Order: sequence, then C-alpha cells, then structure tokens
Amino acid sequence: MHQGKDDPPPCAGEQYSSAINGSNLRVTGENGNTGQADVRGPADLLMAAAWSKSRLGSALLRLHSEFDSSQHPRRMTGEAIDRLAAEMDRVQSGYKKVDGEQVPNMVLDMPKAFRTANNWYHHEMGLLLGRLKTLPEVRHQLTLKAEDMGCGRPGDVAAKIILWWLTKRCPTCHGTKFEVAAGTGRQTGKVCRLCRGTGETQIPCFEPGREIAIFIDDCLHAARVSIRQKLRKTQNCG
Ligand SMILES: [Zn+2]
Repeated sequence: MHQGKDDPPPCAGEQYSSAINGSNLRVTGENGNTGQADVRGPADLLMAAAWSKSRLGSALLRLHSEFDSSQHPRRMTGEAIDRLAAEMDRVQSGYKKVDGEQVPNMVLDMPKAFRTANNWYHHEMGLLLGRLKTLPEVRHQLTLKAEDMGCGRPGDVAAKIILWWLTKRCPTCHGTKFEVAAGTGRQTGKVCRLCRGTGETQIPCFEPGREIAIFIDDCLHAARVSIRQKLRKTQNCG
C-alpha cells in the first residue's frame, strides 16, 4: 500500500478495497501513461483528467455488463456456514453444570465461521474484479471525483462504491423489496427487513458514498441521453 499506514480508513466495515487494491489495478491514461489509481496532484490537473459525465456513464454501463456476464462467487448459505462452524474448533462460552460440576461450555465459533465465509467471498470477488477490463478506468475517474470531494483515501472510497454499485441488489429479497416466504418463492407482502424495502444494500462510506452514488446516477443518465440522441440521429439519417 502506498498510503501512509497511519492514515485511518475513511469507512468502516467493508474489506473489498484490500482485495481490489492490488498492483494489477493500474490505470492506463489516454496517452498510455500508467500510474496508480490514487492519483495525487494539483486540483487543476485532476479536473483536466476528468471525463464528461456521459463518457464516464458509458464506461460504467460497459463495466456493469462486463460484471454481469462474469461468473460470480456466491455467498455461502446459512447451512454452509453452519457446516463450516461445525468443522472448526469450538470456543468456550462460560461454564455449564454437568452432573453437578462446573465445566467449560464449548460452543460453535459462529463469528469466526461468518468471518471466514465473508473473507472467502471478498477474496473471490476481488479476483473477479481484477479481471474486469473497464474497472481501472472507471475506478480512476471515481477516484478523481472522491479526491475532488476531499475524501481521504479516494482510491479506497472509489473501489468500495464501485463494488457496492455492482452488487447492490439486496441478497435477501433480490431487489424485490419484500420478504419471500421460505420454500414458496412468493412474496409475503412484508417489507424486507435487511434492506428496509429499498431493494438495495446500504451505500458504504457514509455521506461521500451517497454523493458519489448520486454522481454515478447522473453519469448513467447522461450516457443514456447521449445514446438516445445518437440513435435518433441515426434514425433520422436512415
Ligand atoms: Zn431486501
């Protein structure tokens, strides 16, 4: 990592950035220059490198279709995590009485099993992301945006938001916003408890994350408008 190791991470929780911060994610500029995604430099230089919203929006659309057509790692199911925990060493949770004697109460180490499953998923997802050709340029552009907003570790912020954007569909309701009755696949009419009816997972990185998510939407909108205009022109010419 090229950042100072004392820099506090700007966002809590997610571990994606370590997986996708690898040196394989270098940004190739339009003139063929290669540099780290976390470009540090004067603001005017940064803004000169920034693309138009519609250009970035088109790159985002390409990135999403590249991601969608890739083989995705699946999160482990609850049962698989239970099985994993059963294979791990048990941990002590207080004491229990057996035949009138206090003995250590050994239980499944569920937190460790969840952590292991989570790390595996992030590792696999990191490998997948490393193969997406459009990712470095999109990440570079969103890093510029985060830097322009004054975010600490703009490269990490950009990586986290991109991964959220690619995988934001709620894993419980699959974006339908309602709970599904087990075994039937039918919606119960109750709002999904995990996403609270938004159909999406929570945006990482707090306010800067929300701001960049809005910026992404703006870029997508600009790209779609530009695509429609081009189509209309072609139709008029034909
Ligand atoms: Zn949901």
